[in-house]
Amino acid sequence: MNETKLRDEIVGLAKSMFDRGLTFGSSGNISVRLDDGWLMTPTGSTMGTLDPARLSKLDINGRLISGDKPTKEAFLHTTMYERRPKANAVVHLHSTHSVALGCLHDVDPANVLPPLTAYFVMRIGTLPLIPYFAPGDLKLAEAVGEMASRHHAVLLANHGPVVAGKTLQDAVYATEELEETAKLFLALQNLRTRPLTSEQVADLHRRFPQNI
Ligand SMILES: [Zn+2]
Repeated sequence: MNETKLRDEIVGLAKSMFDRGLTFGSSGNISVRLDDGWLMTPTGSTMGTLDPARLSKLDINGRLISGDKPTKEAFLHTTMYERRPKANAVVHLHSTHSVALGCLHDVDPANVLPPLTAYFVMRIGTLPLIPYFAPGDLKLAEAVGEMASRHHAVLLANHGPVVAGKTLQDAVYATEELEETAKLFLALQNLRTRPLTSEQVADLHRRFPQNI
């Protein structure tokens, strides 16, 4: 896909997520890998009204070469790309149910969500929880980097998900699947549930291997 189409795709998917309440205010950010660097949503921008011409374009060293200044959370994206060479897009949201999940006390930090549905297993799989760090703390980048070499999706405690995909559409769909599964998980609190068995999960991984 050429750069003009990618810019339009970022703007279109960002607006779609904003319109459906998956992101709000100036929260959330998106990036896409280019042959010669990255496109990223600018700092302080709202996903509902992005301008394709003003998206931040960074060179392969992360320097701004055109557009507005990139999101302050750019390091979440660059860390993910460093560790996942096959990733071509990264989405980070403060989506409500995923954030709620990252605020719960008794979750397994190695894998926050049970395998409730096949699509969650296929699009996300295992979801580790990254401990809380204040915005801008470089220890957050280190912690994400450690997990990102083994997982294409991570959940930042009390903050939100960071999800990589082979394409922007893949990354967006996976982020939405995570948000919907978090919503299901919260709806099922205190109810007896029947997640997929480990055999069913293994069967899905065989049928639909993740290669991000
Ligand atoms: Zn954030």
